[in-house]
Amino acid sequence: MSSVIPAQARSKQLRACLLCSIIQLPVDFRRNGCPNCEEILQMQNNQDRIRSCTTTYFDGVIAVIDPEASWVAKWQRTSKYVRGMYAARVKGRIPEDVEAELETRGIKYRPRDQTDQD
Ligand SMILES: [Zn+2]
Repeated sequence: MSSVIPAQARSKQLRACLLCSIIQLPVDFRRNGCPNCEEILQMQNNQDRIRSCTTTYFDGVIAVIDPEASWVAKWQRTSKYVRGMYAARVKGRIPEDVEAELETRGIKYRPRDQTDQD
């Protein structure tokens, strides 16, 4: 079972990474980038990147994630997501240039809204 995050944490201030769906405050993305995808997304101190690569449109907040399900691990040196809050569903797509960057690394982008089928 996944832990459910208190409603208090589900602030509209929070943003989810379009690539790995980790949820952070905008200030965290600005200060540190995405802990999973920074190598690709380079969001640190880049407000435009944060705006185009993260979204407030997400739901199903979970506190843990199955590392086996991590396709992000393909380009990470570590084989796991960092611990944190993740969104079960994220609406939106990464920009085309980022998708192209993934492709040059032999990674096929998977939009994170794929489970939104009910
Ligand atoms: Zn990410």
